[in-house]
Amino acid sequence: MKQRLSQILFSQGFGTRRLCAGLVWNGEVTINGEVVEEPDTEFETEGLRFTINGQEWPVFDKALVLLNKPAGYECSQKPKHHPSVMSLLPAPLRERGVQPIGRLDEDTTGLLLLTDDGALIHKLTSPKHHVPKVYEARCKHPLTAAMVEQLLAGVELKEPEGKFQRPPETTKAEGAEIVDDTLLRLTLVEGKYHQVKRMVAAVGNRVESLHRPQFGALTIPADLKPGEWRWVSSPSEVWGE
Ligand code: URA
Repeated sequence: MKQRLSQILFSQGFGTRRLCAGLVWNGEVTINGEVVEEPDTEFETEGLRFTINGQEWPVFDKALVLLNKPAGYECSQKPKHHPSVMSLLPAPLRERGVQPIGRLDEDTTGLLLLTDDGALIHKLTSPKHHVPKVYEARCKHPLTAAMVEQLLAGVELKEPEGKFQRPPETTKAEGAEIVDDTLLRLTLVEGKYHQVKRMVAAVGNRVESLHRPQFGALTIPADLKPGEWRWVSSPSEVWGE
């Protein structure tokens, strides 16, 4: 589909139509290494990439990004005690309304996906679709084979203290293995509140720190530092297709 450049920038979250036209007039937008100065110039949007102030932007109908979440950030849009993970993303992505696919706790690090595609959020968080999430939990006490067996067989999750008391839920890990004395690798296909911490507590241990290296088929690129983000070119990368 062909669109005017100012309309393309508008659809990608670069502000009002007027602001987008201003970016072009100011000579800040480059396509294929050439500055485009006329906001009404039409471009085929399929596969288009433009550069603004040195940052390259692919044109996506729906945005999907991978963030290497550092500790000290909340996934909530209205964070209470720490900055939101949204503050780690550039303004155009926030403007588009991207939001986390599931949540990581403030002190959990690792792979967080964000998108403005509501249907994709639903698909990737629903246990029905069986998307594996891998966690590495550093535990307080040495791990035992009995703990791993219990995690695989199913444990009863208690409500966290201070929370409204609901009937206890049971849940089991898809995979659980002892990496070293106190490091547990756990694979889950659900995303219940504080799930890893509560599962580990249910088998008599305690999570001291938690990291998620993998979501579906995606892992954190080796050169992506904590706090940095990357485009995911298509949801099929998450499904591993
Ligand atoms: N389980 C937890 O307990 N915390 C997280 O951040 C993610 C999974």
